[in-house]
Amino acid sequence: MNFWQSARDELRRCCDLLLPPACLLCGERLPAGLPATDFCPPCRDGLPQPAPARCPLCAVAYRSPAPSLHHCETCLRQPPPFVKVHAVGPYAGTLQDAIQRFKYHGQLPLERPLGTLLAETVLSGRGPRPHLVAAVPLHKNRLRARGYNQAVQLARQVDRHLGVPVAPELLCRVRDTAAQQGLDAAARNSNLRGAFAVSHPVSARRILLVDDVMTTGATARECAALLRAAGAAAIEVAVLGRA
Ligand SMILES: [Zn+2]
Ligand SMILES: [Zn+2]
Repeated sequence: MNFWQSARDELRRCCDLLLPPACLLCGERLPAGLPATDFCPPCRDGLPQPAPARCPLCAVAYRSPAPSLHHCETCLRQPPPFVKVHAVGPYAGTLQDAIQRFKYHGQLPLERPLGTLLAETVLSGRGPRPHLVAAVPLHKNRLRARGYNQAVQLARQVDRHLGVPVAPELLCRVRDTAAQQGLDAAARNSNLRGAFAVSHPVSARRILLVDDVMTTGATARECAALLRAAGAAAIEVAVLGRA
């Protein structure tokens, strides 16, 4: 830890004493000892939990409650270019609320608790560590309007916990596409065709691709296929919410 990091931590401790930190979801005061960047225990406990039965590849939830090793219809029909999707939970309830506040309402401090949840989910998968973390890119027009790319912010938080380097500009968005919201699966695929590019060849074998939400998986498929074509051997995807 360098001088500036320890000075910043010390300053944060002093601020916490003067102004006890509040939960970023409900605004209630955090119990003593919890980092200012966490959600309070009731909010954490109230986050929607992943479905017990889901596709082992793309994490889509099955209706049946029994855990299953069967791949979903989409993955059987068209095997994805990634090997696994880590999802904190379904895109619903307080998780959806937190993601929307983080993404659309500029509530950047949420990157810490959400990034922590994402890193914990990846670590609980007990798979081999990735060599590199990449993020689904925004087109420069949208980046200019929003001021930040939520996927890059989350990727940096994953790096903080896993100690794996982030390549924020490895993927770039070369075409400004219409929003994916409201499009069906076929329209989403054609909307994304040729939208992304990889900026340089990849020497990392295992890459963790980070995004905030996965809906049909079209974006993750497109980006993972490009990373594979650029030289990566295996791609895992990490998202907060799985629709
Ligand atoms: Zn709370
Ligand atoms: Zn699947």
